[in-house]
Amino acid sequence: MLAYLEHFVHEKDAESRQDDEVASLSRALELQASIDELGPAGIASKDFGGIKSVKPLAMIRPSSAVDVARVVKAVAASPSLTVAARGNGHSVNGQAMAEKGLVLDMRALEEPFEILWIEGTAYLEVSGGALWEDVLKRCVSEVGLAPRSWTDYLGLTVGGTLSYAGVSGQTFRYGPQTSNVTELEVVTGKGETLCCSLTQNSELFFGALGGLGQFGIITRARVVLQQAPEMVRWIRVVYSEFEEYAGDAELLVEEVEECFDYVEGFVLVNSDDPANGWPTVPLEPEQVFDPVHIPSTAGPVLYCLELGLHYGNADHPYRSRVDMDVDRLLGRLRFIQGLKFQTDVTYTEFLLRVKRVEEDAKASGTWDAPHPWLNLFVSKSNIVDFDREVFKKILKDGVDGPILVYPLLRTKWDNRHSVVVPDSDIFYIVALLRFSPPPPKGPPAELLVAQNNEIIQFCTSRGLDFKLYFPNYQSREDWMKHFGKQWSRFVERKASFDPMAILAPGQRIFSRTS
Ligand code: FAD
Repeated sequence: MLAYLEHFVHEKDAESRQDDEVASLSRALELQASIDELGPAGIASKDFGGIKSVKPLAMIRPSSAVDVARVVKAVAASPSLTVAARGNGHSVNGQAMAEKGLVLDMRALEEPFEILWIEGTAYLEVSGGALWEDVLKRCVSEVGLAPRSWTDYLGLTVGGTLSYAGVSGQTFRYGPQTSNVTELEVVTGKGETLCCSLTQNSELFFGALGGLGQFGIITRARVVLQQAPEMVRWIRVVYSEFEEYAGDAELLVEEVEECFDYVEGFVLVNSDDPANGWPTVPLEPEQVFDPVHIPSTAGPVLYCLELGLHYGNADHPYRSRVDMDVDRLLGRLRFIQGLKFQTDVTYTEFLLRVKRVEEDAKASGTWDAPHPWLNLFVSKSNIVDFDREVFKKILKDGVDGPILVYPLLRTKWDNRHSVVVPDSDIFYIVALLRFSPPPPKGPPAELLVAQNNEIIQFCTSRGLDFKLYFPNYQSREDWMKHFGKQWSRFVERKASFDPMAILAPGQRIFSRTS
């Protein structure tokens, strides 16, 4: 049963017409719907990016995959409707919106949440609308197990991140989240509910992973679990030279088995700017970043490698193996002595570390301001050029938030999935996570979008081997370039699973056919 349906009416004339449409849709779907005219302030027309806003006809809260399939079938039978699954709406360019279409609030889909053991391995059967933070809390507290591959921030849905990749500091070892699921239940654009895996409906399985929501709505995923560690030693070390930073980061990720459990890194401005500079590095309030250690040869930006090592409670941090392990692993690295920071936190605290950032940003008003974020994958062979032109010049004053840059291994990504990455054994994720205050305190969003475009233009004009992560293009030609030789496969998958192009219209790749 559909729990209820909300609709959005904003103009008097449009109001009665939309009322009729929503009412007849409601009847056609046999909804047990309560229509709430005001709704929760139109969340379906907003996202985290805060740059785009389009009004849907209605938002529906499905309570099961059966509901999802019923809605998709009704949309397919209509002359012009489209439907977007909305995870937690953390897109930045309206990707989870549907202009005059239906938005499915996937958070309403609470079940299943079940642990399975198959041939000695534990799996979580979880709803596509579940938040990763709930997955963490329930898995760790109820059974002491946890997924292997995460995102930095966990207020995202399972279906939302699987529709892209899902990347964090564990990706070098286990691959993105898309490489850590073995089965999906998907409602295709034809309204069929299919179970898919490596061996069953495999084309749909590979297509949906990284598929930008184009081939089906993920209603359930089977996620690989492992024993949850108890503690994490969380470390930050600072570099002044990019070549040394990148060389050390690559050394770490290439020695996958003899490494930290988490490897990330970021760029900071070489100044005392509280949002962009030295104060962003220490891990504890009493730790001080003393600039006296910075060599005089340092440029406008510095680099910070962020590392994590798991250990058990039995290994007390101050007398145990963990100190020796950390010393051995750090021993080969060329960071600036004197600029090393560390702390010990529980595994759950570590994985929820960005929650603190969210709380601070909400308090300061930067969470609700526009977020013109840019995420790219840049090949190892081009990352030094990228550093010279982008980090050291275009972004030398920072982005009022983290600028992530760390290496990933191509072998951990599955070519059969829909996501495209550079053609290089090692490539870097670069993420400009802008948290500027809204004008007049901060710059207008258009200026930041223009800066993003300047960076993309630099990459394109210099022929860098790069791909956008969370791609956002205006024209068919740009999408074709983005997918390159994978474009024909993407189009074939669309024709097989969503031939009328009713799904995820906010990605603006295909247009609805009648
Ligand atoms: P939405 O924004 O709601 O949807 C995204 C797209 O997926 C839409 O096209 C939608 O239609 C489609 N979709 C949603 N649910 C489903 C489903 N069940 N089936 C099929 N299609 C679906 N990403 C990383 O990889 N690593 C990070 O560390 C990371 N950190 C982030 C931190 C913050 C603060 C934010 C805002 C984003 C971050 N992201 C990160 C990006 C994030 O993965 C994407 O924005 C993702 O789309 C968000 O998931 P969501 O559940 O909000 O999806």
